[in-house]
Amino acid sequence: MTGKSHVTIGTITYASLWAHPLGALGAPTLADTRSILALPVALTLVLLGSLLPDLDHPEGRLANERFLGLPLLKPLSWLISAIFGHRGATHSLLALAGIVALGELPFLPWAWAHLGLLVGWGYAFHLLADGLTKSGVPLLWPLDLRFGFPPLRGLRFTTGTWREGLVVAFLSVACLANASRAFVD
Ligand SMILES: [Zn+2]
Repeated sequence: MTGKSHVTIGTITYASLWAHPLGALGAPTLADTRSILALPVALTLVLLGSLLPDLDHPEGRLANERFLGLPLLKPLSWLISAIFGHRGATHSLLALAGIVALGELPFLPWAWAHLGLLVGWGYAFHLLADGLTKSGVPLLWPLDLRFGFPPLRGLRFTTGTWREGLVVAFLSVACLANASRAFVD
């Protein structure tokens, strides 16, 4: 999927489940606070996580993001892309577990903030979303197996096509409908 779709999916699912948890599935919160002031920070972390897997794509959005006027992540992106290729290691459950662990392991001084769960939220939804496309995702990397939904490749769509837009639009409406229940309950 495109960077725009990933950002939309990551942030809208987070905001929706932050506003109204769906059964046991609620959004993790920054430092366990439900303060509205923490929400923009949490959303920024989710947004970062939603772009992070495509750091293996040097022409991707995050790789070309400029910090202090310089594309500082570009060399790292080239390196990851050269070693693992696009949609390789960064699109695996191992990478997701590593990202979450970097933020959540109890002995880390920043574990209280739950950065790992927030970045991990965006990251996990990125993997799920890419799983809907024809290329699928190598969830069990380093095993050379690709997963997708529906399992039949022909029923999935190609990145950047109108069907991707339709899926994002449908999901956005569902998320808004869920969030609106917060005002009813
Ligand atoms: Zn991707």
